[in-house]
Amino acid sequence: MKLKFMVVDVYNTILNKSSIEYNLEEYLEETNKIGKIFLSKYSKEINKIVKLLPKITRKRWPKCLGNEIEVYFVKYKGPSFAYPLTLKVRGDLLFMLVILTHELGHRFFDGYGSEKDINDLTEKVFEKLKINTKKQIALIRTFNNSTNKLISPNFL
Ligand SMILES: [Zn+2]
Repeated sequence: MKLKFMVVDVYNTILNKSSIEYNLEEYLEETNKIGKIFLSKYSKEINKIVKLLPKITRKRWPKCLGNEIEVYFVKYKGPSFAYPLTLKVRGDLLFMLVILTHELGHRFFDGYGSEKDINDLTEKVFEKLKINTKKQIALIRTFNNSTNKLISPNFL
């Protein structure tokens, strides 16, 4: 499985439709900038995560996905979500990596699975990678317990 990261101006515009402080040029610039830094810092780990998810779940990537998942970097007020894989840019790049793993994890569960299962899987991935994400994992667990129930089980 390959991940194809991109910034799409139309998509960013649509997500920010109701935001008054939205400035397309500024937002795209920041989205591009953080997206690039994120990839230059974590490309190796992302490749490992893509291989670890099927190993830990003992499942294959679903065939319907083909061999590539498009990941959209966005900057907007809402959350990241699993489908289409929409990853909000954040100052905490490691938190972005945790959220990316969480959203990818949804693909391994029928009906996208429960948030607890997905977070447990995410935690296992980072234990294998030997990356300390205690703070970030604790944070996504609180996200899931509060806002997500009100919106959708697939939001983060
Ligand atoms: Zn989720």
